[in-house]
Amino acid sequence: MTDKELAELIFPNITKTIKDYEEEYKIRDLKEGELVTRFAPSPTGFVHIGNMLQALLDYYLAKNSHGVFFLRNEDTDTKREVENAVDKIMEVLEYTGFMPDEYQYKEKIVGNYGPYIQSKRIEIYHAFIKELIGMGRAYPCFCSTEELDVMRKKQEAKKSMPGYYGAWAKCRDLTNEERAERIKNGESFVIRFKSMGNPNRKIQYDDLVTGIIEFPENNNDMVIMKSNDLLPTYHFAHVVDDHLQQTTHVVRGQEWLPSVPLHIEMFEAFGFKQPKYIHNSLLLKQDNGVRRKISKRKDPEALMSYYIEKGYPSISVIESLMTILNSNYEEWRDANPNASFLEFPFDPKKIGTTGALYDLEKLDNISKNIISKMTKDEVYDNLIKYTEAFDKEFDAVLKSDVDYTKEILNIEREQEKPRKDFACWSDVKNSIWYMFKDLYNPENYEWMKITDKAEIKNICETYFNNYYNQDDDKETWFSKVKELAESLGYASNMKEYKANPDAYKGNVADISTVLRVALTSKSQTPDLYEIIRILGKDECLNRINNL
Ligand code: GLU
Repeated sequence: MTDKELAELIFPNITKTIKDYEEEYKIRDLKEGELVTRFAPSPTGFVHIGNMLQALLDYYLAKNSHGVFFLRNEDTDTKREVENAVDKIMEVLEYTGFMPDEYQYKEKIVGNYGPYIQSKRIEIYHAFIKELIGMGRAYPCFCSTEELDVMRKKQEAKKSMPGYYGAWAKCRDLTNEERAERIKNGESFVIRFKSMGNPNRKIQYDDLVTGIIEFPENNNDMVIMKSNDLLPTYHFAHVVDDHLQQTTHVVRGQEWLPSVPLHIEMFEAFGFKQPKYIHNSLLLKQDNGVRRKISKRKDPEALMSYYIEKGYPSISVIESLMTILNSNYEEWRDANPNASFLEFPFDPKKIGTTGALYDLEKLDNISKNIISKMTKDEVYDNLIKYTEAFDKEFDAVLKSDVDYTKEILNIEREQEKPRKDFACWSDVKNSIWYMFKDLYNPENYEWMKITDKAEIKNICETYFNNYYNQDDDKETWFSKVKELAESLGYASNMKEYKANPDAYKGNVADISTVLRVALTSKSQTPDLYEIIRILGKDECLNRINNL
């Protein structure tokens, strides 16, 4: 029995050939230098920050070169699949703004290189496997899980390389007649790739990140089609899809690096051109002095849902990841404060190979800086988008008087050195709640030096009765606070106070702290002048009366 006849026996209903598919998947019309990348997550129900790093790089490479960025849903591992997982992936892409040029979602297919969902490509894989069997480069393997377990244990005991190869590969040398017989008897089987590699020979592979790496050739007859659902394994789907969909650059996790020799051998077996690879380093976390992998079990920040729920502007997450990708990013950013990250001259050789430290504190700093540069209108629009989804109560308060809310959001904003207080939209409520009558119900006043209630009332009442004027500018306002201090026996000049502290009840800073705490309950706030101006006299008096 010929290999072709065996292939026909296994796939009698597959009539299309590789050539047919190559004709259907027209050569992409790319200009010199335009790259085709794909984000190819498995629908596991969450998107890891490491996946986001890959998507960022995919998006960057495609957009920076005016090429194509597409989304492929790698759902061949049906055991790991979770309901709504694709919604989560789309949610993250929407959040980041990395909208693919080609994708498939629900009933919609955008692009000419679909289906973009692997489980919908099963016939395509079968056509490729059929040809591979016909060429004598793949064969059915009937070994049961138990047999393979026994094999693994023996290999361990003998300290042999694990895998299905050489004398261990029992089904490799069956005759086609034996194979046909067992198939006709209904035995279940997987399809394995028939490797011609020899691990004593080395192959060289040029990784975009690490440069030339030398590997022993692959000699493992890897499974390319599973027995239960007839779906391909990752390795096989990678070869078929990235060939037909004409991916030029594959960005994937470092865990795939050891599989490169297998992938090289499979691309060569078909005579296909291989894409270039960027194997991304792992994201690490500093934990009690040790660096370890960010883990979705231990670290909430491992999942993209964390950033969405906290309300980080996606650009903050993007910027913080860009600093991880290339160590000279920050320097470039300082020199080009208004450029899009897509303009950055990225160099894959500068990606670290040993794992990169991902740091939330750094993200917060980057994000505070970004939000501080937004106008009040931008802050309002972003904040509302967040509260609409995550904090309905605060949402209603913010919208009850939009101009008033914007005035609050504008405190120490839209100026040369704006205040950097919000890292994410969920920070806002905690910082400005006291500005809203509806939310103002303090449980605790953070009094500092002056705690005597009668003195506090005296300071506040004297101020509002004798000094306060709604129309004062900031300078006048402050000179009046100084006058107030003097009139009550507090030093208005810090130097004089320090020279002779016993001559005074305290100083002007103690006075403004009393006003601040009396009006907001907080000892630390943004500009008090603005707070008093925005609250207005009536509300201020109201708060003082309630002390
Ligand atoms: N589905 C694979 C993963 O999530 C994709 C790897 C690749 O991009 O090739 O790891």
